[in-house]
Amino acid sequence: MRRTVIAGNWKMNMTPSQTAAFIKELAPCVAGKDACDIVLCVPYVDIATAVEAAKGTNIKIGAENVHFEEKGAYTGEVSCAMLKEIGAEYVIIGHSERRQYFGETDTTVNLRTKAALAAGFKAIVCLGEVKDERLAGITDEIVSMQTKLDLAGISAEDLKNVIIAYEPVWAIGTGLTATPEQADETCGVIRKTIADLYGDEAAEAITIQYGGSMNDKNAAELLAKVNVDGGLIGGASLKVDAFTAIVDAANA
Ligand code: PEP
Repeated sequence: MRRTVIAGNWKMNMTPSQTAAFIKELAPCVAGKDACDIVLCVPYVDIATAVEAAKGTNIKIGAENVHFEEKGAYTGEVSCAMLKEIGAEYVIIGHSERRQYFGETDTTVNLRTKAALAAGFKAIVCLGEVKDERLAGITDEIVSMQTKLDLAGISAEDLKNVIIAYEPVWAIGTGLTATPEQADETCGVIRKTIADLYGDEAAEAITIQYGGSMNDKNAAELLAKVNVDGGLIGGASLKVDAFTAIVDAANA
């Protein structure tokens, strides 16, 4: 059976001291709730603190991006080796905010994903349609194309360390949520695309999260859907009670 993964994406929030305090408060709330993997993806400067604070707990730590080159003249970028050395285990790649504000394309998402997998990370690869694409009725084509481009050249063996986060862009940070039926249907399209690329067994095994204003109120309904294997959570991952409630929903 595939794993349910509840992952927070803190975006540009929290200082190192706030990170330590948050994890200290969260850890006892989620202790022993092992029906899902629990991950916090935090700003680069918070990672070392987060790893230290999460030691001995069931919370894993990830980054929000990584560069694909090993090293060199790439001002402002961070490499896989840097993240490995400070203990990050997961990395988000291709978040819609990276695509929208920082020029990420499916090509760079693919390069980053390959580099992250080669370095031994679990890669949370984000994709999803914008509002106009949903209104135009081309959501299935868009997510299928992104899946193919983002995973191009990735082996079946490496796919075992890939998590897909289906995030309809119109639902991220807007308070709008895809209905459980929409989330299930589109995650199903992604799973079918994986089946076409890698076979049924790989498609059954891959974790496909939903992301887009998942919160303590709607998590249970979304997570109950057969094709939704967890959540990538922005706003609600910044509140201990809301994030705990989502973990609880995944453990119900
Ligand atoms: C996200 O950051 O991936 C996200 C889904 O944000 P939010 O939950 O705030 O919509």
